[in-house]
Amino acid sequence: MKEDQKGLVEANDLVRFKNLLRENKLKVTQPRLRVLEIISAKDSAISQPELEKLLGKETDRVTLYRILASFEEKGILHKVFDLHGTATYATCSHNCSEHKHEDQHIHFICSSCNSVICLEEISIPNIRVPKNFALQSVAVNAVGLCDKCQS
Ligand SMILES: [Zn+2]
Ligand SMILES: [Zn+2]
Ligand SMILES: [Zn+2]
Repeated sequence: MKEDQKGLVEANDLVRFKNLLRENKLKVTQPRLRVLEIISAKDSAISQPELEKLLGKETDRVTLYRILASFEEKGILHKVFDLHGTATYATCSHNCSEHKHEDQHIHFICSSCNSVICLEEISIPNIRVPKNFALQSVAVNAVGLCDKCQS
């Protein structure tokens, strides 16, 4: 990609992120934009400590924690636990909205590098729970080697 085209793509992303925040009635702030930028540039989910490292000193831990909690509540990001039980975050599909996540897909976790990848094309089968049980969420993880660790 040529340099000027790259600049254009980044500008488009910025507009998209700003719109996303406004649609969700969240104020457009630099830390929020940075978090969206980092997460959408990655093809695997990212944990809070990893995000902290990438954001550097410009965003403190409490602010980041609040950003992630609000993004999860608004249906912008969904949480997935990795092999060690650490929460990682991935972007949601357009079907998600406030208090209602529709990310009914399987997550692939690499047993070597611990990457968490959304397999959006593979959906979770319908789970029937016993009478008088109320289902709130279902998580299905597939564990194995990712394409990078496989080669
Ligand atoms: Zn979601
Ligand atoms: Zn891997
Ligand atoms: Zn996912």
